[in-house]
Amino acid sequence: MLNSQTQPDEFTFPFILKSCSSLTNKPIALESHSRLVRLGFQWDVYSSTALIDVYAKLGCIDDARKVFDKMSERNAVCWNAMTAGYAYNGLDLEAIAIFREMLEMDFEPGVSTMAAVLPACARLHALDHGRCVHGLVVRRKLSYDSTVYNCLIDMYAKCGKLGMARQLFDEIMEKTDVSWTCMISGYVHCGMMDEASILFREMQELGFKHSYATMACMLDACAELADLRLGSCIHGHAAKHGFDIDVITGTALIDMYAKCGFIEEARRVFDEMPDRNVITHNAMIFGYGIHGHGTEALETFKNMREDGVKPNSSTFVSVLSACSHAGLVNEGKQYFESMVTLHGMTYEAKHYACKVDMLGRAGFVREAFELIKGMPIEPDDVVWGALLGACRMHGHVKLGRMAAERVLELKPEEAGYYVLVANMYAAEGKWGESLRLREMMRERNMKKEAGCSSIEDGGLVHSFVVGDFRHPEWGEIHEKMGEMSEKLRCEGYVPDTSFVLHEVEEGVKGERLSLHSERIALAYGLIKKGKGVLIRITKNLRVCGDCHNVFKLVSKIYGRDIIVRDSNRFHRFERGLCSCKDYW
Ligand code: ZN
Ligand code: ZN
Repeated sequence: MLNSQTQPDEFTFPFILKSCSSLTNKPIALESHSRLVRLGFQWDVYSSTALIDVYAKLGCIDDARKVFDKMSERNAVCWNAMTAGYAYNGLDLEAIAIFREMLEMDFEPGVSTMAAVLPACARLHALDHGRCVHGLVVRRKLSYDSTVYNCLIDMYAKCGKLGMARQLFDEIMEKTDVSWTCMISGYVHCGMMDEASILFREMQELGFKHSYATMACMLDACAELADLRLGSCIHGHAAKHGFDIDVITGTALIDMYAKCGFIEEARRVFDEMPDRNVITHNAMIFGYGIHGHGTEALETFKNMREDGVKPNSSTFVSVLSACSHAGLVNEGKQYFESMVTLHGMTYEAKHYACKVDMLGRAGFVREAFELIKGMPIEPDDVVWGALLGACRMHGHVKLGRMAAERVLELKPEEAGYYVLVANMYAAEGKWGESLRLREMMRERNMKKEAGCSSIEDGGLVHSFVVGDFRHPEWGEIHEKMGEMSEKLRCEGYVPDTSFVLHEVEEGVKGERLSLHSERIALAYGLIKKGKGVLIRITKNLRVCGDCHNVFKLVSKIYGRDIIVRDSNRFHRFERGLCSCKDYW
């Protein structure tokens, strides 16, 4: 057109600019801009809006703003373009600010603008602004628009308003796979795993195709729930429907298999992935760590560096905790040093917490305390918590008391710490102190998360809490538990009652321990799983020391292999020993 000496007019520029929004076309965009100014079309609102749009898409948001500020008259379309431009560039605060300005000037936001502002509200947890957009959607009767609705669901879910999100989800007439993904990931995000997996199955039954996003998010949920059946079903679905195992899906699969106890399977996925980034490696190293495979974890770390993948601060958390779980103290110390000397990183509190944990578990409690004293940053509750755990494990009463005070000072709302501290006092026989803490918890209306153990059988997950007799097969379970106790007694087992919190008579304490949820699940496993079949149990809290002993003995007496995943790591009990070598 230019070669044939035809002059472009104000109708030409919006079109030509629209076609420039990929980076390779930036020179054409700039040339069009200068030509547009020379021809005097910068006053044309459509051409200017097209400029704002293209600059925003090219990442030149300041240039977009300059065009916007120079405009003598603005219509709703250019306000929309500027708002969407900020959101597109991740400038969430600016996006919301200009959106508000636009509303104050009485301009109508478009559907796409609302769809751009809502994710900004979600990321900022700006519920009030999000609600204001919702109000607009209602007033303008946009209920047919699933894009806006999906954004609303996502916004409410990310702000923690799951009930509202679900109400909107149910209202959508024509749900798309994005609607399902938003709702499912909302549940996962808030830790409502059961709701997430129910919805995921429903989605499958209704014939919706899963996207990469739903799969990755569901795999995270499976990892948390230790739901291997659903997890491997998703893996199968991906393979059957020709999904490539990309970095995100692959990493989610590794994490899922590792957390479900199938470290070899995790490794297979790892080896088969064409691309692996730092997060993939972190997941693999972390997986080896919780299984107590310290050497493999460090091997993976070495390979990662040979492949030219740069470790980040989470990598070192995985590496250090792997050393901690495997009792590799010297290696751990070297890696800790290398963070600064070799990788030029700065220590964060979480790295100190890992090292304190590592030293503490191995019995170097004093050294751990010295490390804390020398920290250039303020130690947080996790650091003191690690020391407290070590003091409890190795009976350092005075130091433990100090760590306990710090922890409760820093995190007075965390029920878990009260339990840990109360536990420590109870173990020393200081019932008064222990009771005082229980009192404090009651006053502050805090509840300890109830211990719950589950075991899968016949496609169902059976969950038990302490002293749980609600199971339909309780009679049989109870009988098995009696038999277990008898056999344990013959083997010379004496309950370690320091793990019972309340001051009760010794005999009663032993009885309490024998009703711990993991033992009920174990009895159920012994009944249901044939000889030679691995018994897998998941517990939401740490397995207690006495149950740990019992599991070791049962693995020997009954000749069974048992895997327990507690909140901290994996224990594989075989022939009277545990893979954690009693480090946990
Ligand atoms: Zn126990
Ligand atoms: Zn163990």
